[in-house]
Amino acid sequence: MAVHLAPTIEPIGVIHSCFKEKFGIPRQPNLADKAPGMLKFFPEFARPEAVRGLEQFSHIWIIFVFHRAVKKDGKWSAMVRPPRLGGNKKVGVFASRSPFRPNPIGMSCVRLEDIEATAKGPVLHLTGVDLLDQTPVLDIKPYLPYSDRLDTARDGFAPAPDNKTCQVNFSSTAATQIREREKTIPNLLPIITQVLENDPRPAYSNAQFSSRKGDTGADGLDKERVYGIRLFDFDLKWQAAGNKIRVLCLDPASD
Ligand code: SAM
Repeated sequence: MAVHLAPTIEPIGVIHSCFKEKFGIPRQPNLADKAPGMLKFFPEFARPEAVRGLEQFSHIWIIFVFHRAVKKDGKWSAMVRPPRLGGNKKVGVFASRSPFRPNPIGMSCVRLEDIEATAKGPVLHLTGVDLLDQTPVLDIKPYLPYSDRLDTARDGFAPAPDNKTCQVNFSSTAATQIREREKTIPNLLPIITQVLENDPRPAYSNAQFSSRKGDTGADGLDKERVYGIRLFDFDLKWQAAGNKIRVLCLDPASD
């Protein structure tokens, strides 16, 4: 029997994030702790008194909708293949943090850098986000270390990843472009480095799991494959070989 939700749940606002597509977004918050985002409230919720006191907390929970993870047929699967298991082993959807779930609701604990008072209401400035641009937000709650931090918790098949899985280096073109763009995008170099150090490649195609052999050159890079990640207003172009990643350039976004 369906239980009806009362009152109806509706988004209170939307995330503006540096991540313009799903590929490249860290798999959990704070893996790229410099990755910026903003939460802008919809007019009905953009009331300064609704966030009064929130500035006293360093971190907040964002409860959101995985709006780009709904299957075309509207169905859900009881089992999913977490990237952490190489993409070839299944676990129950409720044993996972997969975006594809019966109710596509996610939760991320991120750093609250600042609450900006604007003419359109408060804007929350965040870092450490793992959220796609335009993600609808359902709720915000302060992170309470005394209750939310559980030092004795078991982490099953998802132990803390090595967030320096890859070594990242930059072509001189990319280094120059990044220096220039840092005039308007603070921390761009560490943001790009952190995103790539986490190895955005699907687990089954990376060095640990792959038997795929590309055409590697003297520098060991796979010369065939150039990856692209939509970040901010550019396409980040890079190549990889094993755990080495080389950033080639920042191209203007293609759309
Ligand atoms: N921390 C959240 C949680 O545990 O509920 C999200 C974890 S989920 C594994 C993180 C991935 O969700 C990201 O790497 C990105 O690919 C995807 N994602 C982020 N925002 C999304 C959105 N609005 N719609 C669909 N997928 C999204």
